Amino acid sequence: MFTMKIVLLTLLQLFVFTRCENEPKIIIIGAGPAGIAAASKLYQNNITNVKILEAENRIGGRIHSVKFGDAIVDLGAEWYSGGDDTDVYETIKESNLTEPTCFTQIFYHSSGKRIDHGIITELLNIFEEIQQVAVEAKEGVTVEDHIKEKYSAKIRERYKDNSEMLEFASDFLEVIRKEVTILHGAFSWGDVSAKSDHEEPAENNWLNWKGRGFKTILDVLMQNCPDPSKELPLEIILNKEVKIITWDDDEVTVECFDGSSYKADHVIVTVSLGVLKNRYQTLFNPELPENKKNAIEELGIAAVAKIFFYFPTRWWLQADLKSIGLFWTELDQVEFLQQFGTDKHWLLDLPIFYPVTNNPSVLEAFLGGKSVPQIELLSDDEIIDGIMLVLNKFVGNEFKNITKPTEILRYNWYSNPHFRGTYSYQTIQSRRRKVSAETALSEPLTGKNRKMTLLFAGEATNPTHYGSVYGALETGYREAQRLLDIYKTV
Ligand SMILES: Cc1cc2nc3c(=O)[nH]c(=O)nc-3n(C[C@H](O)[C@H](O)[C@H](O)COP(=O)(O)OP(=O)(O)OC[C@H]3O[C@@H](n4cnc5c(N)ncnc54)[C@H](O)[C@@H]3O)c2cc1C
Repeated sequence: MFTMKIVLLTLLQLFVFTRCENEPKIIIIGAGPAGIAAASKLYQNNITNVKILEAENRIGGRIHSVKFGDAIVDLGAEWYSGGDDTDVYETIKESNLTEPTCFTQIFYHSSGKRIDHGIITELLNIFEEIQQVAVEAKEGVTVEDHIKEKYSAKIRERYKDNSEMLEFASDFLEVIRKEVTILHGAFSWGDVSAKSDHEEPAENNWLNWKGRGFKTILDVLMQNCPDPSKELPLEIILNKEVKIITWDDDEVTVECFDGSSYKADHVIVTVSLGVLKNRYQTLFNPELPENKKNAIEELGIAAVAKIFFYFPTRWWLQADLKSIGLFWTELDQVEFLQQFGTDKHWLLDLPIFYPVTNNPSVLEAFLGGKSVPQIELLSDDEIIDGIMLVLNKFVGNEFKNITKPTEILRYNWYSNPHFRGTYSYQTIQSRRRKVSAETALSEPLTGKNRKMTLLFAGEATNPTHYGSVYGALETGYREAQRLLDIYKTV
């Protein structure tokens, strides 16, 4: 009996030993949602020899939630647009962590008057109708040309007997242009293809995190929320910027800028499309195959700017301030630049200020377009002086006591070398291929002995849900599953 026990124990030890020996070593580059999703899925399926190397001094990537004012604000992703039956979404729903966001766009005229809300709603509905039938857009046409054509036809028809309204509706196209550049994160709406493979999730309620910040989703992913005792012990090494990945051998070697290096059986690269565009020629050894390089070049990524302002005196108190949309006439724009200088041109790219959920003294400005790189270079004082000009011009009549913000918070997504942009989009060029560029980007590469050594995740590798956190999570799960399929641990 005793001998039997020893034999069993030895067999058990042998099994455990063998399993550890066989357990693959995996390195994930980037602790954004894709990287953390991949690591947590591997971990939950008993592949635990996983390290995440992260260049920044924090986790989250383009999820960046920071305390500001009375709550947490999101410098990066803010609204969750998921809604499919992932475990994460189930937990979010069950734990009541989010709520749908209601966006109401109240617009002011550059002459300082509030514009009738009914008119704005009507024009935004026309835009919405065009968005909904975007599937009907022609291949080879930009979002700019598509929207201009459809919008002009619709307003000409609707306001054929009302020349004043027709003129206003035509000028309102400029507001739509600004919102579209933000939506796609492009510097110009002429850079984005009207036809796209993007699919809206079944339920898209633009969920906000009730003042807790999008980072809550990272806690859910790492199983630290809702029950912190269940947290997965993921190994995440911060301040580890990867310099070069040598991937065609049996083992992949990852060298970092600080001189450290790591060996792994598989590496999952989750860095943004912006980083790939900037670094693909030096990041990989041997260099990437042509098809992947072309996909990186052809897909689009630019940036938006989000700026938060804290006002110690809430001058819009008592007012049911849902937003401050800015409608400029052409003449007012010219006069504004003549009076305050052409270096204030960036202010013309600002379509709207929003009050921030659960953060009563904070307003958020969202800007897109060609000014974004310039805005990142401006000092805080220049930004505050600029927005004071605009606020006084547009809402100074309605609110007599506008005060200066005392704090400002923003993040330079475009110039930060670890991001080089905010979210990806499809271009006319990226759509001129049989297999989508995102799919080409997602395909794993094999080293010697046909071993799959280099895998790719991240929002820009998602053929239908690119540009979102939800899409990034899907790609992390996809690549984890690819490895789990090899090791058959599920
Ligand atoms: C301003 C802004 C607003 C947004 N709004 C929304 C929104 O409301 N809803 C939504 O769903 N999505 C939104 N998004 C998009 C969303 O944030 C991204 O799609 C998503 O976070 C991408 O996740 P990822 O894991 O693919 O990449 P990332 O989050 O970029 O993660 C990649 C990680 O790799 C790291 N890295 C880069 N280079 C290296 C290197 N050489 N070595 C090691 N690590 C490296 C980076 O630091 C980063 O942490 C927004 C993004 C921004 C910036």
